[in-house]
Amino acid sequence: MSVKITDSCISCGACIDECPVEAIVDDEDNPTGEETYYVYPDKCVECVGYNDSPACAEACPTEGCIVWDDPSVAPDKPKREDRGEAETPVVE
Ligand code: SF4
Ligand code: SF4
Repeated sequence: MSVKITDSCISCGACIDECPVEAIVDDEDNPTGEETYYVYPDKCVECVGYNDSPACAEACPTEGCIVWDDPSVAPDKPKREDRGEAETPVVE
């Protein structure tokens, strides 16, 4: 799974440098053409192994702007809660 930036994003830029895997791009590089920041769902790891919770959402000043557990986002990727504790290998 991946987090998703919704259309309530105000393009403040607070999230982008927080991402440990460089999954976030700004509004100019948003491949959807929306004037919001964007998370590449194939890159985002929901901060598993890096932070206790998604660092981008922690940094975001706009409540509800960054969401996760949305089944329409990268449905083939495992959910955060399926992956066990950070730094712990998940046995498939
Ligand atoms: S949840 Fe973590 S890995 Fe995913 S976009 Fe946010 S900061 Fe990057
Ligand atoms: S921190 Fe939130 S409001 Fe600011 S650019 Fe990122 S997603 Fe948008």
